[in-house]
Amino acid sequence: MDERAARIALVEMARRLDADGLNHNATGNLSVRIEGGVLVTPTGIPAAALDPDDGVVLLQDGTPREGGGRLPTSEWRLHVAQYRRPGVGAVVHTHSLEATAAAAVGQPVPAVHYLVAAFGGVVLPVAPYATYGSIELADAVAATLSDRYRACLMASHGAVAVGPTLAAAAARARDVEWLCGVWRRARALGEPVILDDAELERVREQLASYGQPR
Ligand SMILES: [Zn+2]
Repeated sequence: MDERAARIALVEMARRLDADGLNHNATGNLSVRIEGGVLVTPTGIPAAALDPDDGVVLLQDGTPREGGGRLPTSEWRLHVAQYRRPGVGAVVHTHSLEATAAAAVGQPVPAVHYLVAAFGGVVLPVAPYATYGSIELADAVAATLSDRYRACLMASHGAVAVGPTLAAAAARARDVEWLCGVWRRARALGEPVILDDAELERVREQLASYGQPR
């Protein structure tokens, strides 16, 4: 994606996630891969006040490109670490309510719904806690996602989703929030039925060909 288009898309997506309640104030942060680096949201600026020029370009090693006016999100290490994985074109980090509540319990979310398979495994996993902004947190999330999962919870913190595009990563972040809401409500109603691994494997195969033919 061309840098100018990426800057506009990043701001628009940050605003949309904020408006839809996935983030609030200056919490959560987004990034997208561009030619020669990664464009990340700046630190401490609420989505409503963001301007496309506020985005910060980080080089492959995480150092800011010279000439940028803003400081990157405090979670820039979390973002940069996920781009080591092939196929990751965007990263969305949220403090959305349902996901953060589930992350506070610190347990993986089991297959209370077949769409768990869309995250890449048989659960929505949870990365162990580490201080926000730390390299330990960045590495813990990368290790939890490994080359398998497209999203995970972050213990006592929030959630992260990756995708080939910003739209795909954001859609995955919404799926995380929805699943955590289903999990909480289902437990309030009774003992949820957990789908077995063989069924999730069938779903995964089916999802691979979901949608309109190209
Ligand atoms: Zn955070």
